[in-house]
Order: sequence, then C-alpha cells, then structure tokens
Amino acid sequence: MINNPLIFAATSDIAGKVRGKAFPVADLEKRLKRGVGWTPTNVMITCFDAIADSPFGALGDLLLIPDQDAGVELDFEDGGPVERFMLGDITDLDGKPWDFCTRSLLKVALERLKAAGGVSLVSAFEHEFQFKTGGRQPGEGYGHGGFSARRVFGETLMAALDQSGLGADTIMKEYGVNQYEVTNDPAQDHRSADQAVILREVTRLTAKRLGEDVTFTPIRDPAGVGNGVHIHLSFLDESGAPATYDENGTAGMSKITGSFIAGVLKYLDSIIALTAPSDVSYLRLTPHRWSAAYNNLGFRDREASVRICPVTATDPSSVARQYNFEYRAADAAASPHLALAAIIHAGAQGIEDGLPAPKVTEEDLSILSADELEARGYVRLPETLESALQRFESNQTVCNWFPADFASVYVAHKRGEIAFLNGKDTDARCHAYEEVY
Ligand code: GLU
Ligand code: MG
Repeated sequence: MINNPLIFAATSDIAGKVRGKAFPVADLEKRLKRGVGWTPTNVMITCFDAIADSPFGALGDLLLIPDQDAGVELDFEDGGPVERFMLGDITDLDGKPWDFCTRSLLKVALERLKAAGGVSLVSAFEHEFQFKTGGRQPGEGYGHGGFSARRVFGETLMAALDQSGLGADTIMKEYGVNQYEVTNDPAQDHRSADQAVILREVTRLTAKRLGEDVTFTPIRDPAGVGNGVHIHLSFLDESGAPATYDENGTAGMSKITGSFIAGVLKYLDSIIALTAPSDVSYLRLTPHRWSAAYNNLGFRDREASVRICPVTATDPSSVARQYNFEYRAADAAASPHLALAAIIHAGAQGIEDGLPAPKVTEEDLSILSADELEARGYVRLPETLESALQRFESNQTVCNWFPADFASVYVAHKRGEIAFLNGKDTDARCHAYEEVY
C-alpha cells in the first residue's frame, strides 16, 4: 500500500473556486514557510475554466503559503482517504501580499474597520444548497420527512464540520426543491470566511462520500427560490465587549452599527458585483424571493438586503451579546473572503464618514413607484451582472478600497465569464452554474 498522504494548499479565488496544489504531509514544515508556487494568470481562470483576457500573460511567480490555523484533516472512517486541505495567503516572492489574494484583501479590510471604529468583527455565514441527486420531495419545505430523508447526511456533515474545527450549529430542510440549509458558529476576523470555504468544501465532500451531489449555485430554477448566503455580522470593542447594540439606538443599533450599515446600503449597488457575482445571481435578487432587491435595512424582514436579526435573550447584557445583523445579498459564487472584504470596506467608509443610522423598513418596497423609491433614498439593485460590474468599476470610492489594478482585473475576469455564456438561454445558464458551484 502506498502511504504518502497529501495536503492540498488552497486559495478561495475571485471566481469563488477553491484552487491550489498538493504536497506531501511530510513536507508541511517546509511548505508552511516556503509555500507552493502559484501563477498570476490563475486569477483569470473563470468558474467555467475558460481563461479571461489576462494582463499577466505567461509572466510572474507567486507563492501560496498554507496557514496551519486554516487546516482541515477529515477522516470519514469509511475506508476512503483522509481529506486534508489548508487555506493560505498568496504573496509575491518577497513575501508581500498579492493584490488579488482574497484572504489578504480581507485582512486589510479588517484592519481598516479596526482603525475606523475601534472594533473587530465577529461573523458567520449561513448557507443554503440543493441536492442534485435523490429525486424530488414535494411538500417537504421545513419538513421532518425532508430532514429525515437526509438524516444520515446531516449527521455525517455535522460530525465532519466538527472534525474540521467548525462549531456545527443547525441543519434543516429549506423551502426549495431538495434545498437544505446549514449553519455554523460565528468566528472572529478572517476566520469566519475561512470557515465558510471549509463548510462548502466539507458539505460537497460529505455528499460525495454518501454517493450524492450538492450545489451551492445561486439559483437552479428561475421559477423557484435561490440559494442564499446570509452573512451575520457583529462587533467587539477593544476589550472584547459587544459593541453592536445600544438599547437607545434605532432598532437597537449602536452608533458604529448604524454608520456601518448606512455605509453598506450606500455602496450596496456598487459592491454587489463582488458579493453576488454570477450571471444567475440576479435571477435570485428579485422581489418576493426572500433574498434582496433594494438597498434597505429591514427589522426582522427577510426581503431586506440588510436585516436586523431577532434575539432570544431579554436581559440587556445577553441581548448585547446576541444582537447581530445579516447581509442577504450574497451567494456562494462569491469568495467568502472577497464578499466580506467588500462589505467591511463599505461599512468602514460609513463609519469614517459618520453616516447616520438608516431608517428601518417594514414594508414591501416593490410596490413603490420609481419616484417614491428615489425620494426615500432607495435604489433597485442592479438586475444583471453586467450592470453590477458597471456600477463597481464606475464608483471610484469603491475601487479605491482595493489595490490599483484590482477593479480592472476583476471586471475583465467577470466579462470573460459572461462571454462563456453567450448564446445560452436562462436554463442553460442555470445549468452551467450548478455544475461548477
Ligand atoms: N432562499 C432565500 C435566499 O435566496 C432565503 C430564505 C431564508 O430567509 O432563509 O436568500
Ligand atoms: Mg434560509
């Protein structure tokens, strides 16, 4: 028996794919220092593997340096191989973070948040996904039968998440056809984005081990509901105390929370190309799908882009610990690191500019006229990826949050992805995405 286990060093790239290279476990010490070689043009590999026009050509060398704190060793104890992978950062040969490393971009955004607001971030990604295997289960939205049909999967997945260092939280049969939702515990700083990557990979691996196949694609069937990624956010001050809640603030928002959310809503139409970055993402982001269609803050409203979530506690200090808000205009075509970086930059801009807390909506904005929406400061979010990209590249404030060439490279990558879809109708587009996410 050959016995030379491998570790896959991985990056979550701007296509939201997990790519990398494997090395023998025996070389771990060396690889933690030296990394594995990486190529700049890899950033132009779209989710469909077609390479978009690359400014880098065949030139350049980079290092992908695995981070032991983001490692997974997962033994399904089924006679199959142990899965080992480790997320890392991409640097140039001198160790400087690479401008297109999503994990490094997130770290910069977190530093900015700390400088602007004196707070660190606690966050958690809530994921929806669908089985492509196993047939339909009519009438099982939130159902016990639907859950039970996949109890073995659920129990295996929760154990696998636990083994991967994530606090397994809940799993349920979601509303959509063959749709499930899994949540894990929040984590601080960039760890939550690491955990989101790990959760997606471990969910896919678990399904495969059980002879099934899942997809996190933003939407499979335009007539059905989408698969959202809802990112829950809260803050800790320098002493580690909760800083998100103020019982006297609008809907309980502390001053920092109010300004942060105001920044997110102000820039939402220009960052959505980074948080909902596929062509079909915009089929999901339409009214009455419980996703997000306008740049509004909802109080416990599941149709709002940002929602203040419920708390179960009643005493003020527990309320302050539980209080959080969620960003709902994201999906799993986005790298969790890049999506979170964009949200944090928008929020930090809001804090730096001292924006007042936004008003809270508790109504259906889709019935308002364009004039009424505008008068109240709301915009309909972009309705296509191309228009989202245009809002991103034409918003200089937003582009300046990132390294100088980031916006042009990102947009060129995404235009390469769109070109791949030329001539495909909506069903074929949905199908193309469910094969790759
Ligand atoms: N499936 C919805 C989405 O696309 C979310 C449903 C829910 O509120 O959990 O975001
Ligand atoms: Mg859900």
